[in-house]
Amino acid sequence: MTEAPTGQPQADCLFCKIVAGEIPATVVAETATTLAFRDVSPQAPTHVLVVPRSHHENAAAVAEAEPGVVADLFTTARAVAEAEGLGGDYRTVFNTGAGAGQTVFHAHLHVLGGRPLNWPPG
Ligand code: C5P
Repeated sequence: MTEAPTGQPQADCLFCKIVAGEIPATVVAETATTLAFRDVSPQAPTHVLVVPRSHHENAAAVAEAEPGVVADLFTTARAVAEAEGLGGDYRTVFNTGAGAGQTVFHAHLHVLGGRPLNWPPG
């Protein structure tokens, strides 16, 4: 299958399908450019994924194509943290590349909180 241009929905992308409403997710926040939903395998009491509505394979690709959307992802992350009652204590993570733990190749910002978080991560 030929890949759609960056930014356009990819037919085989799980998070594009969630953005389109074709696959259910527990949405906790949304803006014109972002969607935030609960991770199905939470690693902390709050574990939310904030994704761009547009398809880019990782954070660097979003930054290259739509730098303002990267700021939107962090603004949505802060709104989620506030709504979850985390105060100022939460972690935001982009995994980039399989070797760094990326398993879904539609950029997503993990928002984790609600318990003490160790550093460095594994
Ligand atoms: O950074 P990484 O690519 O590993 O993160 C993907 C995340 O997507 C995982 O935390 C995984 O639990 C989550 N996921 C999800 N819903 C799915 C498939 C994966 O929330 N249907």
